Amino acid sequence: MRTEISVKKVRGQFVQQVEEISGQDLLACNQCGKCSAGCPIVGTMDILPSQILRMTQLGMEDALDSNTIWICASCLTCVARCPKGVDLPRLMEALRQIALRQGITRLDLKELPPALLRELPQLAIIGGCRKYMR
Ligand code: SF4
Ligand code: SF4
Repeated sequence: MRTEISVKKVRGQFVQQVEEISGQDLLACNQCGKCSAGCPIVGTMDILPSQILRMTQLGMEDALDSNTIWICASCLTCVARCPKGVDLPRLMEALRQIALRQGITRLDLKELPPALLRELPQLAIIGGCRKYMR
């Protein structure tokens, strides 16, 4: 079960994979919440950035189901505020990479209205494909 917490999960492959891809020491976070308090788009997220970090510390792969990892704009506000030097955007990127490798995607170009596709700058389309698709 994904929500179950255990020593095996905390020391498991998911946590190791996130740390390897992100380059972050997840246990450095002391859950002070400054990142969530300062995030400019936290109101659109279903789980707070600090909660995503906590879930990942505990090996809870449910973090991959959150819209937070896709909404994060990598604005670095949380990085500037974090007293423990944790780079949350790198964590979010690692979680997106793992989700994409599992086949979870957030963008289907075929579902975008043709009129919108014609109007969008090519850079925005390419950036969106890189972030949201395999
Ligand atoms: S600001 Fe840093 S230490 Fe505090 S909760 Fe966020 S990631 Fe953890
Ligand atoms: S990098 Fe992401 S989580 Fe951090 S403040 Fe910006 S939008 Fe929020």
